[in-house]
Amino acid sequence: MLIIGPPGSGKGTQAERLSRHLGISCVSTGEIFREQVRLGTALGREVMAHLDSGDLVPDSVTNELVRERLNREDLRNGFILDGYPRNSAQVSELEAILAVTGHRLDMALQLTVDDEELIRRMLMRAALTRRSDDTEDIMRHRLALYYQETHPITSLYLQSGILVNVDGSGTEDQVFERSVVALTK
Ligand code: AMP
Repeated sequence: MLIIGPPGSGKGTQAERLSRHLGISCVSTGEIFREQVRLGTALGREVMAHLDSGDLVPDSVTNELVRERLNREDLRNGFILDGYPRNSAQVSELEAILAVTGHRLDMALQLTVDDEELIRRMLMRAALTRRSDDTEDIMRHRLALYYQETHPITSLYLQSGILVNVDGSGTEDQVFERSVVALTK
């Protein structure tokens, strides 16, 4: 399954909680990129400027990374994708990858939160963490990019009948409970 939602919607947190709940791995492209930056690897150096400016990492880099991860043995029994796909080219790439690994997408869980709440949450996170992309200008840029590039792909998953909307407002526990209910649908 995959989780889609704007920055600040809590998709990373919910993806992790759901992966523990389901006993499957979670693949978060944003987390992987941040870790590579922290470790100072060649990939980290390549993606750092994109992360800092709130832009998407080029598809060629992201797709290659996801292709490698999804072919790993520990994901054979299923996985949760957090933060991928993020545009229509990545949707096609994911289909091609899954056709080879033999997996099928069961569900695209969309977390919805209104914009003002998103900005408020992102500013709170900025105060708590040292994420280089948590400044107000960059947050607004990331949000705009989400509506431009990522939100349109939800209609593709709606058409294929696997899109489930979950209200992402309220506490972490409330959203988790709603997500677990959504899994049973
Ligand atoms: P996230 O933690 O999902 O908010 O991602 C943080 C940053 O990582 C994004 O702002 C992008 O720069 C980069 N990133 C994560 N996932 C992708 C993706 N699927 N395609 C391109 N860039 C990505």
